[in-house]
Amino acid sequence: MSSKPFNAFAMAQAQFDKVAELLGLDQPTRDLLRQPMREYHFSLPIRMDDGTMKVFRAFRVQHNDARGPGKGGIRFHPQETIDTVRALSMWMTWKCAVVDIPLGGSKGGIICSPHSLSMREQEALCRAWVRAVARDVGPVRDVPAPDVMTNAQHMLWMLDEFETIHGGRYPGFITGKPVGMGGSRGRTEATGYGVVFTLREALKELGIRAQGTTASVQGFGNVAQHAIDLYQQIGGKIVCVSCWDEGDQQAYTYRKKDGVDLAALRKIADRFGTLDKKKAVDLGYERLPGDAWIEQDVDILIPAALEHSITDENVGKISKRVKLIAEGANGPTTPEADHVLQERGIFVIPDFLANAGGVTCSYLEQVQSNMNYFWEKDEVLGKLDVLITAAFIAVSDMAKKRKLYMRDAAYVIAIARVAQACKDRGWV
Ligand code: NAD
Repeated sequence: MSSKPFNAFAMAQAQFDKVAELLGLDQPTRDLLRQPMREYHFSLPIRMDDGTMKVFRAFRVQHNDARGPGKGGIRFHPQETIDTVRALSMWMTWKCAVVDIPLGGSKGGIICSPHSLSMREQEALCRAWVRAVARDVGPVRDVPAPDVMTNAQHMLWMLDEFETIHGGRYPGFITGKPVGMGGSRGRTEATGYGVVFTLREALKELGIRAQGTTASVQGFGNVAQHAIDLYQQIGGKIVCVSCWDEGDQQAYTYRKKDGVDLAALRKIADRFGTLDKKKAVDLGYERLPGDAWIEQDVDILIPAALEHSITDENVGKISKRVKLIAEGANGPTTPEADHVLQERGIFVIPDFLANAGGVTCSYLEQVQSNMNYFWEKDEVLGKLDVLITAAFIAVSDMAKKRKLYMRDAAYVIAIARVAQACKDRGWV
């Protein structure tokens, strides 16, 4: 991670401005799209287990809903900032547009550290968050989902609170629910699998067989674990994973040159995707510094942890062998680092395309919830593959046609669609 101050929203706006110029968007459309349409900032007073009251800051940002109800996760993170939420909401708008699903972009967050909160305290936070925005979210307005450090249980508490307030059953209010309680089969796998669907297509494009390729992964959470799973199924070898260690307040990379054993690592990971460092070493993994994942001699890098991971400070450490980067995380690459990747001719599958499997499956979950009829896992994953592959092909065709970098091509498609929807509605 870079030591320079980083503002995700400034980065999201810079990316937007570049493409607005490319597309020749008019000024009102630029003014509308370069910031969120609505923001909610609120305080959540919570009674803690020890009897004291503690106040948490929380947000919901609705960037744009011209193409459909807002969609976006809720993140629990101690370093959450309004600008991070703004950026993530904007990226959600582009993400839904690039995969062509009828949803807009939103994001939410609570500044908190779930590691030091009991389950009861987390439930109280979830319910308080919903009470604060209950009138401004919902199946036809804005549909939340899990994100970093939130999961199906959090979604179910939120749904329960929403339904209590509105007096009915509205399973389409929120996605990422447990299977059997309105959740979709395949949702857990969706983001990581989506990363690998795009990776598979990119390899085809580069004329490389997946079998025998190697990759290094940042993160070992939901996205990373499922990406590793499918990548190994198509014949790839993962040599490194990394994770944050809360106790040591730093990240570590765990390396096994002959390939990591996903099942064994899962057994020694906690629910936050942190590996037990002693057990990892006992299993024969080398424990390296947190940044070491980026400097491995591999074909593919998969950043799947947090934003701001590939920066001007570490981009130079990327091995000459790396041909492809699939951005599982949101916003992992800074514009400066991106410039270097582009100059080096590394094929980058941009975040809002590579990790769109999550929101695409969320959309499929919402469809199933609204009609109260649930599909088998194969059907869900099959539909997901079709949607993500079609989106990848559209972006790569655009990149070739207009000689654009993949990220720019994805932005051109997404922003043009959203701008058109705003125009067609008569907003600008
Ligand atoms: P998660 O909380 O399950 O896992 C995050 C992982 O990153 C953990 O293993 C954690 O230890 C690790 N990590 C944190 N800081 C790190 C650091 N400095 N170095 C190395 N590892 C570090 O989260 P997730 O759901 O897997 O999400 C990961 C990323 O993917 C986020 O950017 C998120 O916004 C994005 N994303 C998630 C989904 C989804 O469906 N879960 C969908 C789209 C995008």
